[in-house]
Amino acid sequence: MASRVPQVDMPKQAPEERRHNFDEVATGYSEEQALTEASRCLSCRNPQCVKECPVGVDIPGFIGLIKERRYVEAALRIKETNSLPAVCGRVCPQENQCQMNCVQGLKGQPVAIGRLERYAADYERNNGVQKPKTVPRGVGRVAVVGSGPSGLTVAAELQRKGHQVDIYESLHAAGGVLMYGIPEFRLPKKIVQAEVDYVRSLGVNVHLDSTIGRLLTVGELFKGGYDAIFIGSGAGLPRFLNVPGENLKGIYSANEFLIRTNLMKAYRFPEYRTPITVGKHVAVIGGGNVAMDSARCSLRLGGEKVYIVYRRGKDELPARLEEAENAEEEGVEFMYQTNPVRFIGDDRGYVTQMECVKMELGEPDASGRRSPSPITGSEFLVDVDTVIVAVGQSPNPIIQQTTDGLEVTRWGTIVVDEETMSTSISGLYAGGDVVSGAATVISAMGAGRAAAAAIHVYIEKGRGYSAK
Ligand code: FAD
Repeated sequence: MASRVPQVDMPKQAPEERRHNFDEVATGYSEEQALTEASRCLSCRNPQCVKECPVGVDIPGFIGLIKERRYVEAALRIKETNSLPAVCGRVCPQENQCQMNCVQGLKGQPVAIGRLERYAADYERNNGVQKPKTVPRGVGRVAVVGSGPSGLTVAAELQRKGHQVDIYESLHAAGGVLMYGIPEFRLPKKIVQAEVDYVRSLGVNVHLDSTIGRLLTVGELFKGGYDAIFIGSGAGLPRFLNVPGENLKGIYSANEFLIRTNLMKAYRFPEYRTPITVGKHVAVIGGGNVAMDSARCSLRLGGEKVYIVYRRGKDELPARLEEAENAEEEGVEFMYQTNPVRFIGDDRGYVTQMECVKMELGEPDASGRRSPSPITGSEFLVDVDTVIVAVGQSPNPIIQQTTDGLEVTRWGTIVVDEETMSTSISGLYAGGDVVSGAATVISAMGAGRAAAAAIHVYIEKGRGYSAK
């Protein structure tokens, strides 16, 4: 039976205000709002929402604790299977996962599970994070490559099971895309660091500035005494359009643009010494979360006209609906069924225009989305002085190239057994974007949980390192 109480909206900064600052857009529920929203949960005996959560959070359980105003316990209930609740409460695509099957959603709006998860996690952080119980001394030693959601999940799960985990991270800050990609106004970095600190507090060591495949290889880590290794190195290698003029000045890959802006804090230049140049007319190519984040950063960095240029239609946008709506409210303009075919520059090598072609959509392709093809004679020019290419990422190949016997696909992703996340090398596991290609935070965490369970069994069986 649908609740008569409507879903409680998320309070947000007004669009005209927020498009000029990097403060968090969504400001979070008040206690009263959280209690009202929690009251909409029917505490189903056979909760469909949990089935859709890749890490199996006890959703009715934690919402029940919120109803009883036991907020810290609610956060701890989530943390039993999810070490990053404040992150997931902010960036998970709940609309396609837990909330999709919520009974309330059949006739009305689903319970806003993510917003309640965020409320509980924020409450716990603001009222003193509970120290985890002391765990038994290490049974095995595990190295984790990469400190993104998959690596942090593996580390937390195995450390809780009594193993000693060392994370190796190539950047100077832990968190993966949560730190270097997703902007402050969507996911404040102090929140990411608080969740990384929680994982550290379990006893996990985090070695920053340590690129595996350069500092040490996977083989050398095994020789150094690790019983098992997990690769969670993500998909941080930008793809390009491969059209004429793409190397003109003023054209960025989204990775470079977002790393400069977020990790290196260019938006606080000169306090932070990383400059970034954003012109008045910005075109962002792509329709995913990366494109939305790039467009919304561009607005905040001074872009007056910011376009999303996407080759399919609105219905096919891969970005979270909420983030596309936020972008639109802030003034980002969407050019659908449009594709750039070349970039044109001035005599100093700076981009000044892009030539685009209109696209028509045919039958759905293998991905289920309608495949676009260019309409002959529909070419037109758009004035631009900054372009950000956000058309996808692939795994960085360093580990694959330096690990003999590791099976990879032709896209550079690592081949694993889907149940155990084990690779072609005994004792070596992988998960997250380096296996699936660019996906989501929670799917990377789900892979991390599966790998941690399998690594635990592997170590208990006492097997050593040998190629299969
Ligand atoms: P990553 O988060 O990529 O972490 C990998 C880590 O490994 C990095 O820190 C990297 O520096 C490190 N590393 C790489 N190679 C090495 C090496 N050789 N040695 C040591 N360390 C190494 N998902 C959502 O669910 N919701 C969103 O709203 C959302 N928005 C996004 C916005 C942007 C801009 C981007 C880029 C992605 C977004 N995603 C979103 C996708 C999501 O962030 C990723 O799917 C997720 O972070 C993948 O986790 P991971 O652990 O596999 O890898």
